[in-house]
Amino acid sequence: MSEHKKISFTTQNRLIIFGLILSTLLIMAIAVFALNNIQKNLNESYQNFGQVLSKTLAIESVEVTKNVSKNEVSKILKTHSDSIIKSHPDIVFIEFRDTNGNIIYNAKNNSAKSTQKRGISVSSPLMDYSNNTTIGSVAIGLSGSFISKISSTTRMSILFVFAIVWLVFAFVILINTYLITRELRILHDGVSKISSGEFGYRIESKDVSEEVQELFNAFNDMSIRLNVYEEQNIEQLTLERNKLEAILMSIANGVVVCDNNDNVVLINNHAKELLELQDDQLLNTDIQQYVDTEGEFCFAEKINEYKKLSLNEKSSKPVTFNITIDGRILKSIISPMFSQSEDYLGYIIVMIDVTKEIETDQMKSQFISNVSHELRTPVTVLRSYIDTLYNYGDEFDYDTQKEFIGTLNTEIIRLNSMVNDILDFSRLEANAKIEKTENDLGQIVDSCVSQVEVLLKEHNLKIEMEKDTDIPLIMCNYDSIARAVTNYLSNAIKYAPQDSTIKVRLYKELDKNLITVTVRDEGIGIPPEFQKKVFERFYRVENKTHSVKGTGLGLHLVKTTIEKHQGHVFVNSQPNHGSTFGFSLPIDLTLVENTDENFI
Ligand code: ADP
Repeated sequence: MSEHKKISFTTQNRLIIFGLILSTLLIMAIAVFALNNIQKNLNESYQNFGQVLSKTLAIESVEVTKNVSKNEVSKILKTHSDSIIKSHPDIVFIEFRDTNGNIIYNAKNNSAKSTQKRGISVSSPLMDYSNNTTIGSVAIGLSGSFISKISSTTRMSILFVFAIVWLVFAFVILINTYLITRELRILHDGVSKISSGEFGYRIESKDVSEEVQELFNAFNDMSIRLNVYEEQNIEQLTLERNKLEAILMSIANGVVVCDNNDNVVLINNHAKELLELQDDQLLNTDIQQYVDTEGEFCFAEKINEYKKLSLNEKSSKPVTFNITIDGRILKSIISPMFSQSEDYLGYIIVMIDVTKEIETDQMKSQFISNVSHELRTPVTVLRSYIDTLYNYGDEFDYDTQKEFIGTLNTEIIRLNSMVNDILDFSRLEANAKIEKTENDLGQIVDSCVSQVEVLLKEHNLKIEMEKDTDIPLIMCNYDSIARAVTNYLSNAIKYAPQDSTIKVRLYKELDKNLITVTVRDEGIGIPPEFQKKVFERFYRVENKTHSVKGTGLGLHLVKTTIEKHQGHVFVNSQPNHGSTFGFSLPIDLTLVENTDENFI
């Protein structure tokens, strides 16, 4: 709908109109005055002209009728006056009278019409200057048409001249006004550009007065300064923004910033990863419309719950909930966002991947139940065997008693290894310091193999050793490395089938500057998806094939120990074809002797 524009007159407009009216009135008054004067002068001149004409006619008539008989006078006057009337269309009549006032001859011009306004009649005596007597009179009537013509021509000319003058005057005023407003318009345009943010806009104008040019120069100066200021400001703001963005982007948790209408205004890279988004997919869209991998609007309900809270509640207890994206559990916290002036702007959702923590919690509780179970079993076995031996020992022969004591010994070894695992774990968690000495890895491996010989026999397993000669001595903690080897061995024994062979290898890789120990069994193996996880603390592969009880600590302890020696652990396994567990240690362990890594 077009807006009806109301015409409003400014003081300047009013002054211009007033000036124009005044000048018009003045010009009109002068014109009327001039016309009147001219008219008056013309009338007077016409009157004089009439008088001169009648006088001349009188003298002429006396002259032409001199010495003429009375009868002839009127004839002569007729001829004379008729010829005058013919040649002077302005003369309406000529009338001759005798001294008694009787008309001698009256000549009329029928074609001439006397105008009421301009017409005049003038009479002069007919004088006989020879004897100075009056012989009659002549009256002459003038139509005034001649003077009318002059007068109207003069009036028209004057009006024309004044009209031209008025037009030129009005034109000059308007041009002048236009020129003044043109400069104002240029300035107005400039100010509009500046107010719309186009800093640095310059007014280019030639042909303006010096004062206006100064004003324009001052304007241009101001514009340039504003531009410089704005650029500095933008630079500063960009810097600040970049800093904030860099901080936000490098935050390890996912951050999504939403405005008051649930529109996502900012999202960091980690959040994009966690929510499995591509590029700016979620930016400028409603967060409530986000759908997780299960096809659920996982944020909607909690955001609505959050929005129902009062501002105080929002600030004092942020809404916390878990969402699951592609098997990962994300702890999400919604907290309000305020401006510096404490205005509520929207909210921030921080997402933390707690999958690991939750898994660890589950594994911990599994660990506790496993440990209790694992401890109870040998303790129950020990109690019942000791009970039997104590009460009925005499009734058993020597071999049975030996068998009983053998079982007791195995259970005590199991118990001992379990307690050791738990102790080692707490020691490693507490970063306790252990001594490192120069050791022969070959000798450690031999000693570990001889320790598990009883178990090997129990499971009918053979062991094959393959050791490189000239293995250099390394700086390490004897007990920790021995426990790592034993752990690999006892696991191999646990999961290897009866009558199979366990292969132990010790070799050096000079190009990599490493000494490696591997323990290979022909057991049930580990599916690929679990191979990385078996070194995590408390992790146990639980399925039908992996039903052997344990704490899930052994391999984690091996990994921690080996890493504390600057080495690494690895596993190669194929389900149902066996597993090879191993670790490599750097040959020159003296290099790490004085580092913090001694603390294990
Ligand atoms: P645990 O006390 O349960 O044996 P470990 O940390 O030593 O704990 O082992 C973790 C898991 O790795 C075990 O539960 C088992 O499922 C798997 N595992 C370890 N060694 C072997 C192996 N030689 N063969 C097959 N599975 C193994």
